[in-house]
Amino acid sequence: DLVVGAGAIRFEHLNFAYKPEQPVLRDLDLDIPAGSFVGIAGHTGSGKSTLLALLLRFYPPQQGRILIDGQPLDQLPDETFHEALGLVPQEPYLIAGSVRDNIRMGRAIPDAQVEAAARAARAHDFLSALPQGYDSRLGDGGLAVSTGQKQLIALARALAGNPRILLLDEATANIDSATEAQVGEALRALRGRVTVIAIAHRLSTIREADQIVVLNHGRLSERGTHEAL
Ligand code: ATP
Ligand code: MG
Repeated sequence: DLVVGAGAIRFEHLNFAYKPEQPVLRDLDLDIPAGSFVGIAGHTGSGKSTLLALLLRFYPPQQGRILIDGQPLDQLPDETFHEALGLVPQEPYLIAGSVRDNIRMGRAIPDAQVEAAARAARAHDFLSALPQGYDSRLGDGGLAVSTGQKQLIALARALAGNPRILLLDEATANIDSATEAQVGEALRALRGRVTVIAIAHRLSTIREADQIVVLNHGRLSERGTHEAL
């Protein structure tokens, strides 16, 4: 059976449009070594979230292909695929339940692993400081948390599944700079173990990325490190 190994990703001549007359991704080529951290920047509407949507198999590309460890993405069995990928969506949501429920999301994950994921997401400090810590109620009728905190919880949720590949679509809402720094730090600490693709609306989140690519109307217009760009 096909398995996901180290988590190398390759986009080959990728072309995609939601409507034939409006190409969104144009002849995109990108090589992401296993365990590396790639930041994606670009104006609103440039195709950043769409790129992640294709990697998540929400839509098939019209041309080109995506390879995971050299294997066509569309040939990976669903279970293999779902175990390998973790997603932090652009608009993270909470369910009505405890902090633990929100990280676990119905999966059989022991408390220790829930907390380890929260630590890796740099969410442990604020979660353990809540009135009932990890038992605090969130979501409908629960404690109000900021968008940045929701994003940290969503990151903990994604990491709790031990993904080989982590996709993060940074929230567009204003996020305080401390939380933003925590996200950047969490992503940097995953280097070498998890392949990270992070869409950033603020360059500080991806300052430490191995490679930053800039999408411009669906094309890769620039690439390099934070210093080089
Ligand atoms: P942002 O920074 O605002 O999140 P983005 O770079 O993530 O923008 P996308 O969401 O990938 O941009 O959108 C790229 C283009 O595709 C835009 O023109 C958008 O209007 C269009 N688009 C996105 N999703 C859909 C969809 N489900 N159906 C049709 N068009 C879409
Ligand atoms: Mg987007």
